[in-house]
Amino acid sequence: MRGATLKVNMISTSCFVCAKKELTKDEVGICKKLLGRRVCQAYCMSCFADYLEVSAEELLARIEDFRDQGCSLF
Ligand SMILES: [Zn+2]
Repeated sequence: MRGATLKVNMISTSCFVCAKKELTKDEVGICKKLLGRRVCQAYCMSCFADYLEVSAEELLARIEDFRDQGCSLF
């Protein structure tokens, strides 16, 4: 999109590792939550689980926890 203004610190919406496109809000949200809001690399659920050396289920459970806490990222 020519002429579109890019926001500073805009997080990528494709996976940094496997290049999966159109990451979900949850996937982007958990990256921001765990890596910090200024992060500009995003991971899909399975790559992020690998990166953190946890299971995808564990990651999903954490997303649920954050959602329950009313976190604005989810
Ligand atoms: Zn990935």
